[in-house]
Amino acid sequence: MSDEIDSLVAHWVRPEIRRLTPYQVQDASGLVKLDAMENPYTWPEALRDEWADLLRQTDVNRYPDPAARSLTERLAECMDVPEGMQVILGNGSDEIIQMIGMSLSGPGRCVLSVEPGFVMYRMISTFCGMPYVGVPLGEDFSLDMAAIRQAMDEHQPAVVYLAYPNNPTGNLFDEDAVCEVIEAAPGLVVVDEAYAPFTDASFLPRLGAFDNLVVMRTVSKMGLAGLRLGFLAGPPAWLAEFDKVRLPYNINVLTQVSAEFALRHKAVFDEQTARIREERGRLATALAALPGVTVFPSQANFLLLRTPPGRAGAWFEGLKARGVLVKNMDGGHPLLADCLRITVGRPEENDAVVEGLRELAD
Ligand SMILES: *Cc1c(COP(=O)(O)O)cnc(C)c1O
Repeated sequence: MSDEIDSLVAHWVRPEIRRLTPYQVQDASGLVKLDAMENPYTWPEALRDEWADLLRQTDVNRYPDPAARSLTERLAECMDVPEGMQVILGNGSDEIIQMIGMSLSGPGRCVLSVEPGFVMYRMISTFCGMPYVGVPLGEDFSLDMAAIRQAMDEHQPAVVYLAYPNNPTGNLFDEDAVCEVIEAAPGLVVVDEAYAPFTDASFLPRLGAFDNLVVMRTVSKMGLAGLRLGFLAGPPAWLAEFDKVRLPYNINVLTQVSAEFALRHKAVFDEQTARIREERGRLATALAALPGVTVFPSQANFLLLRTPPGRAGAWFEGLKARGVLVKNMDGGHPLLADCLRITVGRPEENDAVVEGLRELAD
């Protein structure tokens, strides 16, 4: 390699890509992993055996079904996608965000979401060459309707993303406010229901009631994060277009077979997510009892808490020293000052968090 490689790269790589910092994933080796909203429970042994048998019969020399028809049908049925709506699959919902970006990007077109929110909306918009507009939430993490209306008027976003419940705050936005956003948006609105297994609220039943509403889901948070599978449900007029930019065979055969198998045993996952919901309540109560701690209401499988002023970094490191990895949100956004995000784990993992924070709070 010559000395000129750096100037060659600098010349050809898009400036907005060169300015990015790569998506960081914390090293969790040897730690109780409560940083990434994973389901802490594994599959029962009998289920694993049955799954292994199925994989043994799977031929990986052949390309998978390009449209993953069988899995798509099962997902639509299991998740109660309304009749007449189409479903397309992505390699995680991240890939769906990318497909939407590729389909809608162009001169003068931007993406709008609320902040603090899911960081991938901004990152993937940048990949697709779309400016991103982040509208701050209110102090209580509710939608600031005046600010959203004003930003939509000014920027005319091609697409608006709302996570419902929101990450990293955990709350559900007011349902009527979300409807107002959908009605006022000039373009598409994606309601991202990644945390659907942990709430009873959903916009899926409203698909078809608005011309510009689609709903995105994932199997990651219900307990299949390793498979990388997300889906988008909505009117065929939109989805048929997005399907054109989907890479053929984007869902590999092991994911197709495994996800379909898992959905045949959805009761196992429903039972696990119900346990997580119960634990969320228990953990919230225990954390809220710690001196100086505020726990925000959550409809997801994580809790956002505020430490006493200036303590988030020390508490994060203190938990890590005690073998527990959470996410330090301090510094990410002004509304997240002094905040930690803790994924709800197994009872003994949650006890370790509470025990650790009790020592740190003293
Ligand atoms: C975790 C999460 C996703 C899931 O992404 P996958 O790529 O499907 O794992 C999507 N949206 C939000 C808001 C999330 O928190």
